[in-house]
Amino acid sequence: MSSQSNRKYGRGTTAIHGGSHNDPLTGAITTPIYQTSTFAFPSAEEGARRFAGESDGYIYTRLGNPTVHVLEDKIAMLEGAEAGLAFASGMSAITTVLLGLLKSGDHVLASKGLYGSTYSFLVTLKTSFGIDFTLSDLEDEAAILRDIRSNTRLIFVETPINPTMRLIDLTMLANTAKAHGIYTVVDNTFMSPYLQRPIELGCDIVIHSATKYIGGHGDVVAGLAVGSKEMMHQLFAKTHKHTGSILAPFDAYLLIRGLKTLGVRMDRHCENAQKVAEFLAAHPKVTDVYYPGLPSFPQYELAKRQMDGFGGLMSFELEGGLQAGRKMMDSVELCKLAVSLGDVDSLIQHPASMTHAGIPAAEREQMGITDGLVRLSVGIEDIDDILADLEQALDRA
Ligand SMILES: *Cc1c(COP(=O)(O)O)cnc(C)c1O
Repeated sequence: MSSQSNRKYGRGTTAIHGGSHNDPLTGAITTPIYQTSTFAFPSAEEGARRFAGESDGYIYTRLGNPTVHVLEDKIAMLEGAEAGLAFASGMSAITTVLLGLLKSGDHVLASKGLYGSTYSFLVTLKTSFGIDFTLSDLEDEAAILRDIRSNTRLIFVETPINPTMRLIDLTMLANTAKAHGIYTVVDNTFMSPYLQRPIELGCDIVIHSATKYIGGHGDVVAGLAVGSKEMMHQLFAKTHKHTGSILAPFDAYLLIRGLKTLGVRMDRHCENAQKVAEFLAAHPKVTDVYYPGLPSFPQYELAKRQMDGFGGLMSFELEGGLQAGRKMMDSVELCKLAVSLGDVDSLIQHPASMTHAGIPAAEREQMGITDGLVRLSVGIEDIDDILADLEQALDRA
């Protein structure tokens, strides 16, 4: 766990230098990988002080590790938060935050449209732990006031929503929730702190599947959460250190390395995705394109206000529905037919039969996930190559 958000550099600079400290032994520029499970105490007295929380020294890697701490500091600085925590996966960040903040009898309000496993875990909380939930549009204050209950403790949202790309106004959400003493938790995976910073808009906790844009290279599964020092400490002490879903030092190193290029990668993802969205919108076989950067996107104004860029993700509807979608996905050559997102590689997938297959069909329809919806995570390859691949795949669809 870590602290501090005193930012004097720009975000690209912070992504490179934030959180890192000089290696006093060798002067190494790269953060060393402290691949150790335990740490020797200089004396019995100091050991006791560390266990009592009177000294910051290290004890055991499940309770804290220097490489992991650099990553936690870096993500906190990038999100404008006081402190961060790292996890073995995005889902372990989500489950730890939910288990740490909720108790039986509580109610969760969540955006209509959620990552498949997040939805499934809400169902588990309901059936096994007596924590109820409601899915809501959350489109304005009236909708929120209609759906909160006296026992609503937490509002959990994704924005843009996976995979329909619908947005939620985070400033409105945070203000409404705060007035009723409800926590706001935002899964910011789709945007990264380079493009959207919910803490600065008043939200309480931001979560990432760092597997996606933060790592950026498709070679690590990891999660992060940031918030106030007090909340992060509470989550650490109550849940994280006991559930033990910690990030390994080597994986923390990969994320520190990935974050150094976050700015240039996100700029390129946005630039490429804009061109792909415009290409798809003009294609006769595509009936709808959902991308916040298109002026025809219903929440284009909100996107411009809330986000520093429109991101690399989009979904689209093919004229021929499911059949055409399948055909197209089997025809791509450069784009990989794979779930996940945010990699330097372009990835394409079919939510109804893949990422969201675990959600009952009726519920899925309610979330706006039709059988013909295709999701595309635009990579940072040369744009002409991406467009040529999509064009030939659409020809065959
Ligand atoms: C991938 C993803 C998750 C889950 O993260 P893992 O690292 O796979 O556990 C949660 N939310 C969103 C929006 C995601 O895309």
